[in-house]
Amino acid sequence: MQIGVIGTGHVGLVTCVSLAHLGHDVCGTDSDADKIAQLQDGMSPFFEPDLEGMLQEGLSCGRLHFVSHPAEAIREADVVFISVGTPPRASGDANLVAVEAAGRTVARHATGRCLVVEKSTVPTGTAHRLRRALRRERPDLALELEVASNPEFLSEGNAIKNALEPDRILVGAESEWAHQVMRSVYAPIIASGCEIVETDIATAELAKHASNAFLALRISFVNALARLCERTGADVLAVSDVMGKDPRIGRHFLSAGLGYGGSCFPKDLIALKRISSQLGYEFPFLAEVARVNDETIEAALEKIRDALWNMEGKRIALLGLSFKPGTDDVRFAPALSLARRLLEEGAQVVGYDPMGMANARQDVPEIETASDSYDAAEGAHCVVLCTEWDEFLNLDLEKLGRLMAHPIMIDGRNVFDSDAMRAAGFAYYAAGRPPITEEDASARSQP
Ligand code: NAD
Repeated sequence: MQIGVIGTGHVGLVTCVSLAHLGHDVCGTDSDADKIAQLQDGMSPFFEPDLEGMLQEGLSCGRLHFVSHPAEAIREADVVFISVGTPPRASGDANLVAVEAAGRTVARHATGRCLVVEKSTVPTGTAHRLRRALRRERPDLALELEVASNPEFLSEGNAIKNALEPDRILVGAESEWAHQVMRSVYAPIIASGCEIVETDIATAELAKHASNAFLALRISFVNALARLCERTGADVLAVSDVMGKDPRIGRHFLSAGLGYGGSCFPKDLIALKRISSQLGYEFPFLAEVARVNDETIEAALEKIRDALWNMEGKRIALLGLSFKPGTDDVRFAPALSLARRLLEEGAQVVGYDPMGMANARQDVPEIETASDSYDAAEGAHCVVLCTEWDEFLNLDLEKLGRLMAHPIMIDGRNVFDSDAMRAAGFAYYAAGRPPITEEDASARSQP
């Protein structure tokens, strides 16, 4: 099939390379001309495992193209995916200006029957608006331009695997023709056994928001539980493990720590709350989910204050700056929210991340950056583990502690073993687990 993709960011580019890999002729376009030039040269503008290799494979076999003029991506296309950003407005509503602009662009350049697919995450009801925009732009093609919803469930850091081996493919459409087109797009994946869930459009749009909001809710639930554990002496890791053994619950997204971030969960949760209230239903606990998530940063700050007393003049090392491991994406990263708060309180912040350093520097230029974890720890009064990259799990803790002004670790992801921290001489504060204070650490190191 001939496929156009508007917006070649984290979702659009993965869509381009995976659909080309499946055998389609794919043409991606983006309003950012520099991004298109980079892609034409086979370079990915962001880090995602295996992405650049597949990009180069698609370009060299001739099935994948990138153009800065959208007409070339749309003119011949059977299907056009809209995968532009839908960032939050100050109100929390999803900003759909780019979705409307992309839709109008498709209508302007379409030459015949074409399925316009919402890949971006949008509030329920958006397809109706999009259809109206298409028709206003091209009344002559009113019956030829059909809208469908195909929300993306990929997770950054695993995006290629998620795109080629998804848990499910969700398509919302209004005609058998549209469903048939989408079955053809994903035919090889469906043939390999993946379920395609076919619904009406409003259901598909809502299911995406509901999935992200529910995952955020699980994280906030366990973080609220962590606050309670800290007051009772219980261990939230053990509580989560016990809960997770119940197959009705499962262990995923029950890890206490610095909370969720990234470009999806925070905005999608609030966008769902906003669309719900605009439709006359105050979805009761979504605002609490966001509030508990904000509290996780405050809880970490309290632990740092407890360990260091005054912040002014203290050097604090953050390990991990991206919003999760496996990506250089720092949008709404908890590490950066924490860094801003620490800087406000007068601390000196030094950060290290295997991939996200350049993006972090752009967002928070006041962060000093280090060449590795040990470099970050040098002279630090405290280290905060913010993102659980694998390389942090294999640190030489004794070496890390020796380099620091004081061996104090705040574990924002609950990944270290308390006994190992104690053996390495660290004062250790995790989320929802009994702390090892400086006094405990030194008492235990006495013969
Ligand atoms: P992104 O910011 O990485 O990419 C968006 C791209 O769209 C950018 O390259 C931008 O230049 C381009 N763009 C904006 N307006 C345009 C226009 N009018 N015409 C052409 N190009 C335009 O965003 P993303 O992370 O890929 O997210 C895109 C959508 O997918 C969002 O709705 C997001 O919620 C959703 N989503 C994201 C993820 C994720 O993990 N990042 C996962 C699932 C769904």
